[in-house]
Amino acid sequence: NTFAEIDLGEVLNQNIRRCKYVKPTPVQRHAIPIALGGRDLMACAQTGSGKTAAFCFPIISGIMREQYVQRPRVARTVYPLALILSPTRELSCQIHDEAKKFSYQTGVKVVVAYGGAPINQQLRELERGVDILVATPGRLVDLLERARVSLQMIRYLALDEADRMLDMGFEPQIRKIVEQMDMPTRGVRQTMLFSATFPREIQRLASDFLSNYIFLAV
Ligand code: AMP
Repeated sequence: NTFAEIDLGEVLNQNIRRCKYVKPTPVQRHAIPIALGGRDLMACAQTGSGKTAAFCFPIISGIMREQYVQRPRVARTVYPLALILSPTRELSCQIHDEAKKFSYQTGVKVVVAYGGAPINQQLRELERGVDILVATPGRLVDLLERARVSLQMIRYLALDEADRMLDMGFEPQIRKIVEQMDMPTRGVRQTMLFSATFPREIQRLASDFLSNYIFLAV
C-alpha cells in the first residue's frame, strides 16, 4: 500500500514524499479514499495515528479544485472554504504546521486562530486571505461575532479530537459554529469527525452534524 495508489495527484504526492511519508497509516489508508469520494466520515483515531494527514489531504485536494470560486466581498470579512476545529492552541498550531507542508505549491492558504493570544496578529493574517482555517472553538466564536470570519462558504469541516473538545466544555461553541454554516452549506458541506472515544455525546454530535456518514474504526 502506497500513497500513489490513493491518487491524490502529483503535487500532493510530491509533498507527501517531501514529508518523508512512505506508507499511509491505517487511518490514512481508509479515511482518505472515503473522504475523496465525498462521504461524511466519523473516524476513531488516537494521537499519533496520522489523523492530521487523513483529514488534511482530502481537504487540500478538494480546495485545489475550488479555491477560485467567487467569494463575497465584504469589508474585513473573510470566507474560508474549509474549517478544522481542534481543542487547544498546541494542537491547532501542529495541524497548521502540517497543513502548510501538505499544501506547499498548491496555492491553498492555511491560517490558524487560537485563544489565549492577542487577536490582532491573527486578524492581520486572516486579512491576507484564507482557504483553510484551523481554529479553537472559543476564538472562532469571537471572530464570528466580530464578523471577521464568515462560514457561509465552508465546503469542508473537520472536527479533530472531538471528545477532548467536549471534555473541555466546547459543545455550545461548536454547536453555534456549525449552526452558522448549516443553512448556507447544507448539501455541499463535507464533514469529518475524529475522536479517540465514542461516548453517547459524540454519537449525538455525529448524528447532528454528519449526513449519511461512514464510521471508521481502525
Ligand atoms: P498525527 O496522528 O496526525 O498527530 O501524526 C503523528 C505523527 O506521525 C506526525 O509527526 C506525522 O507527521 C507523522 N506521520 C503521519 N502520517 C505518516 C506517514 N504516513 N508516514 C510517516 N509518518 C507519518
